[in-house]
Amino acid sequence: VYILAVETSCDETSVAIVRDGQEILSNVVSSQVATHERFGGVVPEVASRKHVETITCIIEEAIEQSGVSPAALSAVAVTQGPGLVGSLLVGMVAAKTLALALELPLIGVHHIAGHIYANQLVHELAYPFVALVVSGGHTELVYVESEGVFRIIGQTRDDAAGEAYDKVARALKLPYPGGPHIDRLAHETGEGVTLPRAWLEPDSYDFSFSGLKSAVLAALNTAAMKGQPLAPEAVAKGFQDSVIDVLVEKALRAVKAYGAKQLLLAGGVAANKGLRAALEARCAQAGVPLLAPPLSLCTDNAAMIAAAAFLKYRRGQFAPLELKAEPLLKLEAWSV
Ligand code: ATP
Ligand code: MG
Ligand code: FE
Repeated sequence: VYILAVETSCDETSVAIVRDGQEILSNVVSSQVATHERFGGVVPEVASRKHVETITCIIEEAIEQSGVSPAALSAVAVTQGPGLVGSLLVGMVAAKTLALALELPLIGVHHIAGHIYANQLVHELAYPFVALVVSGGHTELVYVESEGVFRIIGQTRDDAAGEAYDKVARALKLPYPGGPHIDRLAHETGEGVTLPRAWLEPDSYDFSFSGLKSAVLAALNTAAMKGQPLAPEAVAKGFQDSVIDVLVEKALRAVKAYGAKQLLLAGGVAANKGLRAALEARCAQAGVPLLAPPLSLCTDNAAMIAAAAFLKYRRGQFAPLELKAEPLLKLEAWSV
């Protein structure tokens, strides 16, 4: 089974061809980071225009690199949501056009299901598992009882982890996106500033990062007013330690409470070295297998969309050509 997938939910234009939901034959990713950098964040209108400019080339390149002839394709998959509506629409139109022209079934995919199933491209999954999803727009603990059946057991009540990283990075005048820069700075010092941890109610799997972000801003301002500015490394380290402590603690508690066989890490912030190291240590200690995608499959890419689409392909769950982009699509509603 050869699935061609299109991903344009945010600021990456990506097309991939994946065999049997596992083997990547091509995965072309065109990032718009250079375009949005000067604005310090993604500008939705600019993102859609860029997708329009590049999508055709990326499709051609992905087909060529894969060595699969269009006639041999089995289905076309596309990110249906969540994401920026204008960006989603470009991928949607491209995927529908391909499906119509090549007479192939269409599969709509939830972007976060894609992030989770990126792990299927490199690992054997065992159910039930718990997935810790940490990305630019989401921070969630997801209980996956069986293939493609999702239940969100905890989520952020305000900012997503990646969003907090990017906002703190901006306060430190680091380039956009700031996550990787904070990660690097945090490893340059052993001593972090002391910052709070948002544990919330004792039994809650929810997260909150806006208080931490405010605490960072307050600490920076207070120190600057005293004429003793904080070292960016110390702020990065203190912030990263606070984020990681809470993520790791709640993820392991969920694994235990739900009898999960594995802990899966997913989303752009899964590329964070500090988070990966802390989870590896705690999982090894607890005897829980930790699965994480390689860095290139953590951030947005179409191979992960093809991997998730395979779940629906096997069940014959195809979408009509009237399929609509859903900027607020719910993960649980997308379950097989
Ligand atoms: P969503 O998937 O929720 O729709 P998104 O697709 O924009 O959001 P991703 O591409 O999955 O998000 O992840 C991007 C985020 O990951 C950015 O906020 C970026 O700063 C963060 N990120 C990337 N690498 C790292 C890192 N090493 N440490 C921390 N954060 C990182
Ligand atoms: Mg992005
Ligand atoms: Fe994403």
